[in-house]
This record gives sequence, structure tokens and C-alpha cells, in this order.
Amino acid sequence: MRRVSIFGATGSVGQNTIDLIARDPGAYDVVALTGGRNVAQLAADARRLKADIAVTAFDDELDALRAALEGSGIAAAAGQAALCEAAARPADWVMSAIVGAAGLEPGLIALRQGATLALANKESLVCAGALVLETAKAHGGRLLPVDSEHSAVFQALVGEDMSAVERVIITASGGAFRDWPLDALKAATLAEASSHPNWDMGQRITIDSASMFNKALELIETKEYFGVRPDQIEVIVHPESLIHAMVGFNDGALMAHVGPPDMRHAIGYALHWPDRRALPVSRLDFAQIAQLNFRAPEDARYPALRLARLVMERGGLSGAVFNAAKERSLDAFIAGRIGFLDMAAIVEEVLARFEAKAGLIDAAMTLDNVRNTDHLARQWADDVMAVRAG
Ligand code: NAD
Ligand code: MG
Repeated sequence: MRRVSIFGATGSVGQNTIDLIARDPGAYDVVALTGGRNVAQLAADARRLKADIAVTAFDDELDALRAALEGSGIAAAAGQAALCEAAARPADWVMSAIVGAAGLEPGLIALRQGATLALANKESLVCAGALVLETAKAHGGRLLPVDSEHSAVFQALVGEDMSAVERVIITASGGAFRDWPLDALKAATLAEASSHPNWDMGQRITIDSASMFNKALELIETKEYFGVRPDQIEVIVHPESLIHAMVGFNDGALMAHVGPPDMRHAIGYALHWPDRRALPVSRLDFAQIAQLNFRAPEDARYPALRLARLVMERGGLSGAVFNAAKERSLDAFIAGRIGFLDMAAIVEEVLARFEAKAGLIDAAMTLDNVRNTDHLARQWADDVMAVRAG
């Protein structure tokens, strides 16, 4: 039986992972499930999958989790230390599906145990790409991409030589506002930003899709995971979200990965890799689809893409700054304190502030330095917002 743990089990990716695992209960020994405030869901899944332990990220949810697990024999725990302890429990395959930089440390710990880490948490690679890859290498852990675009690239590269790769093209739906007049974006509301044309995902990544911060993170993720140069990576808006990515080779051929917008494909590929197994996703009918559309992303609509290019050129800890400032301004947008377009402006200003403080971005990429940088960037994002609010 394969020992599996799921970090962020109550979220969108976590629930899709559970859907696959629950279809074949005899094949898996579930070690740890983790979640946040949705402890009823967490406890129900822990019971159904007979997990050893369930962990909520929040200390004040521990009593509720304990009560929900009463009589099950499943251990309950809460807080950051408990998440790290759960990540240190021996497992063969670990899903990293916490949202945000909070997903970094549990993933690093799992890699240190030599586990296979299925990485949905793109923030890990954005904040600390070199550290994550080095940790996997040093401890015999393996990193498998789960983000749909990166799973697509990974699959297009099977049997190929990286030296023959010319370009990597990741697609973007264009998000909720792809067809809005530009001057309407300023007044876009939280509800409007929280609906996605094609994918059913967590709220944060859905808003990040509308602003293209999600694709910005994915540009950096592509560079870090596949080791390609920034100028080899392209973003194309593809409203149907059926082609997830394309890899272009030196003979002019493009390998495109095509499939329905269903995360269970990418999760299942990482779960069964290197095998392919039957997955419960719909099959595409091209006569029905009839046409696929593409357009270049407009710079004015999606400033986050330009910022991601700055970050890729800059390297070092600038990814951690970028992500933390993005998370903080997203918090503020969700709380109704800033407008939709303010997010990119704030991230840009925080990046500039770091650039002006010689040395900060060039500190060694240790977990401590990433954490401190993340902390400082959040504070500076708050400062920038306070100044802008006058
Ligand atoms: P979600 O918001 O639906 O779920 C997030 C999970 O993380 C929940 O279990 C939540 O309880 C937990 N969590 C939240 N804050 C936490 C904290 N501070 N500490 C510990 N746990 C915390 O998110 P999602 O859409 O499933 O996305 C998860 C990750 O996967 C993100 O990094 C996202 O970018 C990536 N991803 C998601 C999709 C998708 O289809 N949803 C696709 C590709 C990549
Ligand atoms: Mg993606």
C-alpha cells in the first residue's frame, strides 16, 4: 500500500486529490490530512480515508477538530509545528496543496524524508525554487508538477532532451476580465474577480487568474522547475483552456498537451507517474469544440506579467518578495481595502523598495532568509498601502 499525505486537503486541489484516492481505497494508506478552518470537512475526510492524523493550521480550531474526530481513533493536532510534524511522518507520496507561502515548509520537510512531492503549491517554487530543488536532490525526494500547465510541459518532455527545447508556451484563460474594457478594471469588485470562465478553483487563485498574477507566478514556476531561460517562456491567452501548454523543439515541432479543464488529470498523472492510468475526466470531442482561439496578453490589462519578467531577471529572493507582496495586496483586495488594479501597483512598489536596499534580495537562499524576506515584504506592502490610502 502506498502511504500518502495531503496538505491542504480541504481545498479545491485537495478535494480533487481525495476524489481520486477514495476511488481506490485498498491502494492507499492515508497518513496525514491537513486543512484550515473547515474542520468538519477535514474530519469527515479523515474518517472516510482512515487517516492516522488530521491537522488544522489554526490553533483555535483544535477543540472543534477533536470533537469532530471523537471516537474515531484519529489523532488531531493544530498549528504550524503540527503541520511540520505531520510532514515529517514517513509517506511515499505527498500532495502539496496549501495555498500561499505557508505551503513551503511542509513541502521541504516531506522532501527531506525522501518523499515524492506532488506540487500544486506553485508559491514554493516562486519563493524558494533553488532551495526546493536542492532539497529534493540532496535527500532523494522527487518533485512532480501538478499545476496544469507544468504537468502539461512535463508530459510533453517525456523522452525528450532538454537541449532540444527552444520554447515553452503556457496558456492562460485570460480570467474573469479578459473581455472587459480596460477602464472598467479599476472598479472591478471582489465578486466579479472571484468567478472563473473555465476552472473551478479556490478563491485566491481565481482572483489571481483575473489579474494574471497566477500566470505571473507560473512563469517563474516554469523557469525554476524546467531550468529554461526567461526569454524561452511565452504566455498566450487561450480562452477555451483546452491546450494547457506547448513545448517547441529545435526542429520546429510543437508538442501540445490538450485535455479538459479538470485538475484530476494533472493530479492523477502525478499520483500514478511514471505510469498512465485511467482517470475519470471527460473526453474531448473536437467536432463539438470546432475551434480554438488564441491572442497575445495585453500589457496594460495584465501588468503582473511584466513584473514576473523583472523577478525572473533579478533572481535571488525577489520571487519571495513578489509573492509576499502579492499575497498581502490580495488580502487587502479581498477585505475591500484596495481596488483591483492597486494590487499590481503595490507589488511593483515593494519590489522597487527591495531593489533600493542593496543586498536584501541577494542574501543566500536559506529557509530563514526566505521567511524573513517574506515577513519584511508583507510589512512593506502594508506601509505602501498606508501611504497610498493617505
Ligand atoms: P484553496 O483555497 O481551495 O485551498 C487551500 C488549502 O490550504 C485549504 O485546505 C486551506 O485550509 C489550506 N490553508 C489555507 N491557508 C493555510 C495556512 N496559512 N496554513 C496551512 N494551510 C492553509 O486553494 P486551491 O485552489 O486548492 O489551491 C491550492 C494550491 O494549488 C495553490 O498554491 C494554488 O495556486 C495551486 N493550484 C490550484 C489549482 C486549482 O485548480 N485550484 C490549480 C493549479 C494550482
Ligand atoms: Mg495553472
